[in-house]
Amino acid sequence: MADCIFCKIANGEIPSTKVYEDEHVLAFRDIHPLAPKHVVIIPKRHVQNLNEIDQLTEAEQLALLHACKKTAALAGIEVSGYRIASNCGPDADQSVQHLHFHVLGGGKLSVNMA
Ligand code: AMP
Repeated sequence: MADCIFCKIANGEIPSTKVYEDEHVLAFRDIHPLAPKHVVIIPKRHVQNLNEIDQLTEAEQLALLHACKKTAALAGIEVSGYRIASNCGPDADQSVQHLHFHVLGGGKLSVNMA
């Protein structure tokens, strides 16, 4: 998608601090962290949100799930704990219209984070 900021990050047009990458997904540090550790995981191929996840292949969908675990391990929060969140649509205040999962941790999380 030409004007999608996460597509631009995925193809290197906009810089990001990469945490994890494979063939299907990219994980990078959130620019406005809501927790001591806050990483965003995206599929490299554009879909708007979870409502469109069927447009991704099963390999892409599995890669997203595995990236959650791998990102938590790389961020050093797999034992202390973390939250995975995905805002979907207007009532959830989804601000970037490219599917993404927030990985939050590194300290006690409040209920309304992400
Ligand atoms: P959401 O509100 O769930 O759509 O989350 C979008 C997230 O993307 C927010 O937490 C933003 O801080 C984050 N974000 C937006 N632009 C960038 C960027 N260029 N690099 C890293 N994170 C970003």
